Amino acid sequence: MYNEVFWLIIVFLSVEFLVSQVLAWLNRKAALSKIPEEVSGLYDEREYMRQQNYFKANDKFAFYTDSFNFLLIVGLLSFGVFGWVCRMLSDYIESETVVTMLFFGILFIANEIISLPFSIYSVFVIEEKFGFNKTTPATFVSDKLKGLLLGVVIGGGLLFLITSLYSWLQSSFWLAAFVVVAVFSVLLNMFYSTWIVPLFNKQEPLPKGELRSAIEQFCEKAGFKLDNIYVIDGSKRSSKANAYFSGLGRKKRIVLYDTLIDELSTDEIVVVLAHEIGHYKHKHTRQMLLSSLLNMFVLFYLYSLLSASPLPSEALGGERALFPLSLVAFSMLYTPVGMLTGVLLNYVSRKNEYQADSFAVSYGYGLPLIDALKKISANALCNLTPAKEFVFVYYSHPTLVQRIDNIKRQIK
Ligand SMILES: [Zn+2]
Repeated sequence: MYNEVFWLIIVFLSVEFLVSQVLAWLNRKAALSKIPEEVSGLYDEREYMRQQNYFKANDKFAFYTDSFNFLLIVGLLSFGVFGWVCRMLSDYIESETVVTMLFFGILFIANEIISLPFSIYSVFVIEEKFGFNKTTPATFVSDKLKGLLLGVVIGGGLLFLITSLYSWLQSSFWLAAFVVVAVFSVLLNMFYSTWIVPLFNKQEPLPKGELRSAIEQFCEKAGFKLDNIYVIDGSKRSSKANAYFSGLGRKKRIVLYDTLIDELSTDEIVVVLAHEIGHYKHKHTRQMLLSSLLNMFVLFYLYSLLSASPLPSEALGGERALFPLSLVAFSMLYTPVGMLTGVLLNYVSRKNEYQADSFAVSYGYGLPLIDALKKISANALCNLTPAKEFVFVYYSHPTLVQRIDNIKRQIK
């Protein structure tokens, strides 16, 4: 069991854990630095104290969650628990497809149970304490149940297809499996707003009034159809404001949170909308989808290289090459590549945010965009001085100061 693949996995997971801890430490130090001039008036003294406490609470929570998960996985690996579960199932069940389905079912349920206290703490203790939480226990439970059901239906369905392809085509299954997953993610991307979101939220067209007319005017200028704009009841779960663009082709839509509409002035909402239309004009959804498909292609190809070897399965405590064990081993061996692609995707995403901001600025919305960004950041108690290394690795959006600098450069 303790073969070279086992030790490679342990090294990869440890390096990832250490890197995340060093980044968190740098970020902790940076949180104490002087507030940059661009955002000096954002918090008054009392709010700044609150922001610092919110940062500390989340930082501590992340430390305990990450450490717990790291120790848990190393423990499971050291005692060969994955192999043991697989053996138990194989003793009673002959079909390898059924064993694989049950194995991942057990993993999925165990993960749900173990992560439950953490997500309860995050929502009902941290977010609650700082006044962000609007989730009732009933909503929380129904969210979890719906999530579980979706996981079983969507995840289970995909897993069944992939496992069947594997038992049919063996090691050359990877290309067919990639095609299945690719088609599936394109469908999910297109129908996310019409199939998945309604399970959790209400989406409504913009109500008539001052805001709708203002938005109508802008949409005409920018060439975007008003029918594709919806308001969602984000206030059901959190007071934090948000907006996003999703979908492809005719299924595209911009979704504004009701919290955003409550928080911002009409001008500022139009500006946020302009930013989202910027994402659409620059085809960012398509670009991100293509990058994730490319990423998946590499992933499946790399897996095919080791799927026939018994070493990954043995590293997890299996007696021979077993499909579910080699999948789990591969997901851990993939850690360094995953970290790099994560950094790369965040880099591209930050570039896209600058582009979307610039699109809004090109319509003369530079100053209201700065105001809107400041307001949203302040209300979410956002960290004004994250460490640049932390931003580089984890941030999908540029920092507030970076975005303000980028906008100011263009309006001068
Ligand atoms: Zn954006």
